[in-house]
Amino acid sequence: MLRRTEGIVLRTFPFGEADLIVTFLTSDFGLTRAFAKSPRKIGSRFGSSLEPLTCVRLSIWGKEEAALPKLTQADIVRSFQTIRDNFMVFLEVSDIVELTLNLLPEREANGKIYALLSNTLGALELLLSRKNSRPNSARKANGGADRGEGMPDAVAVLMNQYRAKVLFFAGFAPKLDACGRCGEQGSRFFVSEGTVLCEVCAESADSPLAVSGALIALYRDLLTWDTSMVQRIKPSKVLNRELSELLRLHVRTILAKPLNAEAFLCAASGKISLSLKNNERIMSEEL
Ligand SMILES: [Zn+2]
Repeated sequence: MLRRTEGIVLRTFPFGEADLIVTFLTSDFGLTRAFAKSPRKIGSRFGSSLEPLTCVRLSIWGKEEAALPKLTQADIVRSFQTIRDNFMVFLEVSDIVELTLNLLPEREANGKIYALLSNTLGALELLLSRKNSRPNSARKANGGADRGEGMPDAVAVLMNQYRAKVLFFAGFAPKLDACGRCGEQGSRFFVSEGTVLCEVCAESADSPLAVSGALIALYRDLLTWDTSMVQRIKPSKVLNRELSELLRLHVRTILAKPLNAEAFLCAASGKISLSLKNNERIMSEEL
């Protein structure tokens, strides 16, 4: 049976001499793996359509329950080449791709998550093309707004929005607005519990992260705002990093492991965050 859908290439594995196993996030079938015959040969009909992050119209052939249907066609809708061309941004995106791969079950359609990924990549590409079209002098003058190797804060905010929303849509959102046990107010996040706890409920837990009102507000805004509008949210670097660390630790607890891209990102950018004081024990284990 032939099935058609739109999908984004998340991961490819070489298979044999010239074949590939491709994992797509598709709009109609969720995470889907397919077997592509000879895409690595010169002159293959797949061309560059199976590069990571490429959005394609794809056709797969095989029984619905087949573990590895055959990819028969992949026509590029958007290549997202700009993202692959920027090493630091590509690394950041690898992190959210890995999160998506680990969080979602195979073959369970989730239109909201598909739209989120597609819109996030679109917004990233727009940001990068704006950045690339800015003259050098303007880039220097705006140096304060860049992070690391020219990584704009806007990218970091977008990545945090993706993390927050994908966790929410997949049913793994950290609870920050109130105590997860009794609903009272609380200001400390307990990684092992995935929630803020009030003073009373916190007595039995350990190693909390401080959660400020500003952090809760940023998290709420990222969840509420459309991806196309998120650039209007301009949190401080410190606040955005705090949220990023909280989400990372939360993901680590859910998946019971850190993401590979996380270690890669730290090594590539030459920095390890120590912005959360309560977190020193975990950070030193990383080193
Ligand atoms: Zn409580």
